[in-house]
Amino acid sequence: MAKYDVVVIGAGAAGLTAGALLAKQGKRVVVMDREKHLGGRAMAVPFEGYRLSLGGHLLEDGGSGITKIISYLGGELKHGLTSKGMPVWVDGKWQSIQSLYSTDKNELKKVIKILCDTDWKELDKWDDKPMREWLLQYTTSEGVIALFEYIACAECLTDKWWDHSASDNLYTRKMHYMERRVAGYSCWPEGGWHGIFDKLAASLKANGGDLWTETSAQKVIIENGRVKGVAFDKGPKAMMTEGFNWDVIEADAVISTLPVWNVLNVVPEKNLPDWYATKIKTLAADEYKVCWLGMYVASHEPIFTGLDPTELAIWFDSANSRLPGWAFLATGYDPSVAPPGVHLYNCGFAYQGARGREWIEQKFNLIEKDLAAFYPNRWTAKNIIWKRRHVVQQPAFGVFQKPALVGMFRPDYTAPGVEGLWFASETFRSRGIGVDRAARAGLTCVEQILGTKIPEFKESWHD
Ligand SMILES: Cc1cc2nc3c(=O)[nH]c(=O)nc-3n(C[C@H](O)[C@H](O)[C@H](O)COP(=O)(O)OP(=O)(O)OC[C@H]3O[C@@H](n4cnc5c(N)ncnc54)[C@H](O)[C@@H]3O)c2cc1C
Repeated sequence: MAKYDVVVIGAGAAGLTAGALLAKQGKRVVVMDREKHLGGRAMAVPFEGYRLSLGGHLLEDGGSGITKIISYLGGELKHGLTSKGMPVWVDGKWQSIQSLYSTDKNELKKVIKILCDTDWKELDKWDDKPMREWLLQYTTSEGVIALFEYIACAECLTDKWWDHSASDNLYTRKMHYMERRVAGYSCWPEGGWHGIFDKLAASLKANGGDLWTETSAQKVIIENGRVKGVAFDKGPKAMMTEGFNWDVIEADAVISTLPVWNVLNVVPEKNLPDWYATKIKTLAADEYKVCWLGMYVASHEPIFTGLDPTELAIWFDSANSRLPGWAFLATGYDPSVAPPGVHLYNCGFAYQGARGREWIEQKFNLIEKDLAAFYPNRWTAKNIIWKRRHVVQQPAFGVFQKPALVGMFRPDYTAPGVEGLWFASETFRSRGIGVDRAARAGLTCVEQILGTKIPEFKESWHD
């Protein structure tokens, strides 16, 4: 039977980060993933000369998260173009986000200073309160409040002011203001999204770690309150009905990076404290899934509002589908994601909780009308080469970052009474956004396993 110090389940941002860091620290580690491609929800796959990113669209790391992790591992994650401009759809037309707060710039400066001076621990106290409540202590400027709320809408896709968690959103704002001196920092990773995961995997392997793709973890084996190993099915499968050819790896520790929606398929609920499992199940409820209906579109002329090819366009409410959402031109950030001379556009219309087929079909028809209104000159049969609809439900983007669904309300990195088991996933504890958040969760678990902080990350928020 194979024996490892640590088994990491999942080769997404959290799993590859954890695996690569542990291997660098001299641990015997294996990372396994049931899929062929690396990157989990952020994988980028080639398609007819284009490269489509399932989840990785824009990276929100000012530098202290996944960027620093890759540099610590001896690689380099260069930030490509950053978003320059955020057009917002208000009263049936696009306008720049700056126009909403242009008369209140001093108010904005005041709020930024207060936020940067506020200790992280103070923000923890706002886990169950809306962001607007925090802002109203210091400003009544609707423009400043709108700036914070539009960015929160872009990052975690909640459209109502009482639905933005104060702590989670302010953590990210504080990181961005402190590291980049901007409200929202998002960039394209140079070399593409697959480049991030290839770099982490290369570091894992260079330091003696193993990577098994098409290998599905079946069960974390826990005996007498202690992790013993993992039962798994090693792929690839010869046929789709194949199963239960289980093998077992012995290990002292297991890091599960499975999201709340499927972690209990692999970690037996009976081994977890009931209140801990209840937290997982609560967050996994359909109604808390951030879902959207999206479109990848290839076109002759670029599709954007006209502000800037690297804009991130946002709307709270569209005239036809009545859904909030976002859009960007992928080729505006990185022309290599499409063949020379053509363009790739991507957008999402967000909603809360998984829906049925009929609702989705109707919404897609209305979304087409919204897009025609957004881009009257470019959303034309002549300009569009192909459109590919996608439904983000299984997996979802994440769990809503709403009051009482973040921070201390999420299950911690470990469950009391189960020795050797860690949970690193952006759907569990951690702060930040998406891929960067997942990487920070991976780093935190590694430090907990090592029993010491890695000095290079002393200044990086990841706890
Ligand atoms: C459509 C979409 C758009 C997004 N846009 C952005 C964005 O622009 N920017 C951003 O930062 N984030 C974005 N995100 C979020 C981001 O992709 C995720 O937060 C991040 O990738 C999560 O990483 P993770 O490692 O925690 O989990 P995951 O990526 O979910 O990794 C878990 C891994 O576990 C594997 N797995 C599952 N079951 C098993 C099993 N039984 N055995 C072995 N392996 C298993 C899965 O295949 C997966 O690879 C987006 C997500 C989606 C879905």
